[in-house]
Amino acid sequence: MIEAAGVTKKYGKLTANDNISMTAHPGRITVLLGPNGAGKSTLIKSIVGLLRFEGKILINGVENKSIEAKKQLGYVPEMPAVYDLLTVYEHLEFIARAYELDGSWKEDAQTLLERFELSDKRDKLAKELSKGMQQKLSIACALIIKPKAVVLDEPLVGLDPHAIKELKLMMKELADSGAAVLVSTHMIDSMEDNWDSAYIMVKGKIAASVEREDDGHDLEKLFFDITEGAVG
Ligand code: ADP
Repeated sequence: MIEAAGVTKKYGKLTANDNISMTAHPGRITVLLGPNGAGKSTLIKSIVGLLRFEGKILINGVENKSIEAKKQLGYVPEMPAVYDLLTVYEHLEFIARAYELDGSWKEDAQTLLERFELSDKRDKLAKELSKGMQQKLSIACALIIKPKAVVLDEPLVGLDPHAIKELKLMMKELADSGAAVLVSTHMIDSMEDNWDSAYIMVKGKIAASVEREDDGHDLEKLFFDITEGAVG
């Protein structure tokens, strides 16, 4: 579970997140939608502990900056976060050691590399990979810890169709295994078939939230009603 309560983040005079409260529940894929500049990345960075903010964020009931929270939290940043001079496999080994994973990580690593078609790149340095391959490696690093909560910031941008399909399937599997999955995106159609709960952000605030079970909703229509209404 990822819970934000009264989160406010200011950059100088600009309020990028204005008193935001939201929850990503275990077993569900929660999408954070909003136009560019709405404040999604700022909220995500606060959730994963990269920014100081006012308010409170809990990961499975513990404060987000605690080691206990970090152990359970997977994070896929908007820009691939890789170490130029480590090989693909060394990245996974590094994470496995840092998180003190048990020996089964090696099988998980193999599976992740196969699913992302990176097996033949295992011994390549990250700097030798294409941007899309770096993104896939960055995702593999987040998932190898088997996170109980996972936050993905615009994860589908720059991926090839196979990787998009695999990643969407992985998000579903993570949710089905009981993890809370939070995905930020400005492209509604990319997640239209793959969400359970949605928050729509506009100008630093949550403008609406909707559950898939609710009858009669249309995410795209709701998005445009809200975002275009807000602009006009
Ligand atoms: P989104 O992810 O929805 O595109 P962001 O969270 O990146 O939105 O940005 C929200 C607002 O905060 C924007 O107006 C952006 O220009 C501003 N912003 C983001 N990061 C910084 C920063 N490091 N310093 C100053 N302003 C920032």
